[in-house]
Amino acid sequence: MSRSVLVTGGNRGIGLGIAEAFAAAGDKVAVTYRSEPGPGEFFSVRCDVRDAASVRDAFEQVRAQQGPIEVLVANAGMTKDGLLLTMSDADFSEVMDTNLMGAVRCVREALGDMVRARWGRVILLSSTSGLQGSPGQANYAASKAALLGLARSLAWELGPRKVTVNAVAPGYIDTDMTRPVSGKRKEELVRQIPMRRIGRVEEVTGLVRFLAGPEADYITGAFIPVGGGLAMGT
Ligand code: NDP
Repeated sequence: MSRSVLVTGGNRGIGLGIAEAFAAAGDKVAVTYRSEPGPGEFFSVRCDVRDAASVRDAFEQVRAQQGPIEVLVANAGMTKDGLLLTMSDADFSEVMDTNLMGAVRCVREALGDMVRARWGRVILLSSTSGLQGSPGQANYAASKAALLGLARSLAWELGPRKVTVNAVAPGYIDTDMTRPVSGKRKEELVRQIPMRRIGRVEEVTGLVRFLAGPEADYITGAFIPVGGGLAMGT
């Protein structure tokens, strides 16, 4: 397979792992970064998903480089934790604007290509906290829960065009996002995972690749947790 794949936030963490997995399978892979380009030989474009013009420009560059986008992995995301009682509107909105609206902007840019081709794959990075909730993460959990509604609505809208839209929901994965959690809090979180361990990036990438491949042709609107048992049965 040599499809045109775009991974947002592909300069580090889960996004980088996903980009590497697609490239290893022979796909043409472009990644976006906001701060600094990452390692790897990918075509990399700067993109702030909070800025519609930046998203449009990045997608144009990717199209010019490797053709219309066939697989979009909307992975860019952030946290800004705190108790809701003291959380500012700005901190709540920044997380919603990045995680939810950022995905919306990217999906909208890619859909034209996919609808024209009558084939496409959209994979949204949600989170088990979107279904379970998470203390101190009301903004993050709300944004990730909203991605489920987005995926399912788009699954209805785009199903007839053979464009599938699915949400992958990692649990607690070892990346820059979770590394600041340590000590007793970390032990407590691990105790709440049925498999009693933190996940690795490679344990998320296989599912993303599967959803983008021919074996997943008939899967759309799914919410699939990868969390060692977190959010099971959802
Ligand atoms: P990291 O913090 O390691 O990486 C976040 C990525 O998102 C970076 O590439 C970052 O770019 C990019 N990004 C953040 N804000 C923006 C923005 N405004 N515009 C463009 N890019 C942006 O996170 P992870 O790899 O851990 O997480 C990847 C995804 O998986 C996220 O959506 C996250 O919510 C989700 N997830 C992660 C879990 C975990 O345990 N790690 C659990 C559940 C879900 P830059 O480097 O340039 O800042």
